[in-house]
Amino acid sequence: MRLEINGWTSKITFSATHIIPMHAKCGRLHGHDYAINASIQGELGPDGVIMDFISVKEFLRGIASELDHRVLIPKKDKGVSIVGDYVLYKIGGKELKLPTCDCILLDIDVASAETLATFVLSRMLEKVKFPKNVRRIEIGVDEGRGQGAWTGQDL
Ligand SMILES: [Zn+2]
Repeated sequence: MRLEINGWTSKITFSATHIIPMHAKCGRLHGHDYAINASIQGELGPDGVIMDFISVKEFLRGIASELDHRVLIPKKDKGVSIVGDYVLYKIGGKELKLPTCDCILLDIDVASAETLATFVLSRMLEKVKFPKNVRRIEIGVDEGRGQGAWTGQDL
């Protein structure tokens, strides 16, 4: 069976700014409304459910609020450095200087929906205890409605 959490209707959303280097249009600083979706697959437990999805929603809302109203900075990008209270982000011939308090530094190399989904999944696997009947977790990050990237892992 599969348990699905829709980020839009469950209000697991955030608004953030990012930049995708090497892209003509996405190479300019811009923002999106994002939603985090989840799919949890497994057998029914003795209580007739796969797992308590309220706790999963709360966990995902916590991540969404960390990312909300921030500039998403991929700290593995070689163009990123922290100098004092600022993030310097060199992209091609440009250099952005952003106050660190307005940014969130993520352990990724580019702030795409794909890497955000991977970031959320790995955080979830690290922090959430899943019952033994859960077989697979999938996370989808939508960049606006109707377009998103999914990743998953078998447990
Ligand atoms: Zn974008």
